[in-house]
Amino acid sequence: MNANYIGGSWTRHATSYKNINPSNVADIVGEYAHADETATTEAIAAARAAVHTWSRTNIQVRADALERIGNEIVARQDELGALLSREEGKTLKEGIGEAARAGQIFKFFAGEAVRFGGELLPSVRPGLTVEITREPVGVVGLITPWNFPIAIPAWKIAPALAYGNCVVFKPAELVPGCAWALAEIISRAKLPDGVFNLVMGRGSVVGETMVNSLEIDAISFTGSVDVGRAIAQKAVARLAKVQLEMGGKNPLIVLDDADLGVAVECAVQGAYFSTGQRCTASSRFIVTQGIHDRFVAGMIARLKTLNVDDALKPETDIGPVVDERQLQQDLDYIDVGRREGATLAYGGETLRRGTDGFYLAPALFTQTHNGMKINRDEIFGPVASVIQVKDYDEAIELANDTSFGLSAGMVTTSLRSAARFKRDAQAGMVMVNVPTAGVDYHAPFGGRKKSSYGPREQGRYALEFYTTVKTAYIAP
Ligand code: NAD
Repeated sequence: MNANYIGGSWTRHATSYKNINPSNVADIVGEYAHADETATTEAIAAARAAVHTWSRTNIQVRADALERIGNEIVARQDELGALLSREEGKTLKEGIGEAARAGQIFKFFAGEAVRFGGELLPSVRPGLTVEITREPVGVVGLITPWNFPIAIPAWKIAPALAYGNCVVFKPAELVPGCAWALAEIISRAKLPDGVFNLVMGRGSVVGETMVNSLEIDAISFTGSVDVGRAIAQKAVARLAKVQLEMGGKNPLIVLDDADLGVAVECAVQGAYFSTGQRCTASSRFIVTQGIHDRFVAGMIARLKTLNVDDALKPETDIGPVVDERQLQQDLDYIDVGRREGATLAYGGETLRRGTDGFYLAPALFTQTHNGMKINRDEIFGPVASVIQVKDYDEAIELANDTSFGLSAGMVTTSLRSAARFKRDAQAGMVMVNVPTAGVDYHAPFGGRKKSSYGPREQGRYALEFYTTVKTAYIAP
């Protein structure tokens, strides 16, 4: 584990760091290598050297490699899911689900590798045809966050390889275990040396080196807005292709005509599962006045039933916060909410459990308004607020009054309201009677405003980022 995968070999480095289980800080998940600038540059050079061969590889070879990787991940989903829960803190059920999803993504792109094609256009000039094909971009740098430690790497690595690119992959510092396990599986998939490289280490060292390297043609980043913006500025300055997936402040509107049970389940699932650490998590419940009091009572009753504990215990509903820094951020925002005059109707306190971990009771604020800081900033924890409104018009106005635009949800039994919402929501993804978090792997993923920049990820739409178009005019 104390090695990065560079140019087809496992390379050891002088520095390593301990990966700590957030459910039990006495449990060290493993010790993982830290690459420095030199090792990162070597990985980039290895990827560059492999471009010529890999970009011309027979598509069946690519499909077979991806299928092999996907099959192994699916077969080992319980083990990989347990590792994920142990290092990131989402529940075992969620961890296994995410590992299975990573496998499905590789299998989907195994199919895409042989399925994608081009276009043939008639020409406006006699005797010519116009042929439009797609070619790989070259070397892609993939920079990922900690909250989906295997699925997000999968949804970047799989399309990158499927469409013939070489990869330099930098995972988040908090979750090297899943990244290493994934790289180990990929290392046995019979890819030519240098096609896939893993460089674990710091964003300020490994990430910066990748972003500034003239040998990386395109950067796909998922993470926070500030880091994303800085990456885009550097990448654009050297005219590299860039794709960013960033934060959210996702609204869930609950209308008077909603089924209360559906509303409470969507809200609890969307805001608090995975400890609220999802870019698509609901954080603002915008509730019309006729159902407001019943919704709040239903939420409190349901929150009382949730078991916050060690992520690996089968009866746990919500695992710990990922680390001490994130826990402090959540607590600071809970203080801010109180000082802003919001009512903390449930939770928000740290919890003691059998092991020393970062446990936080899911927090629900009521009596809030959309101008409060807790309703403007992405908190990225199990913290959400209720905003009471008059009707649909006020609800949609507030839902859109945010600098983010990733996922927007509504609970209603009115087809008319659902149709209006689909049209009016300024978000990349719209959810009706389902939680704002939770997507399919074959559909495009992404948002608007500060949530995303560049082409969509996932499904066939991934083609846009991982390929470049060539237009050929051919006369016989
Ligand atoms: P982060 O921005 O701190 O880090 C993301 C990655 O960028 C990490 O690998 C980090 O090491 C790297 N990095 C940090 N500084 C860098 C630099 N100067 N140059 C290059 N790389 C650098 O984010 P995080 O805390 O890991 O993840 C949480 C954030 O991710 C939240 O804002 C969340 O909303 C967002 N997120 C978005 C999506 C989405 O698809 N929209 C999905 C998951 C998470």
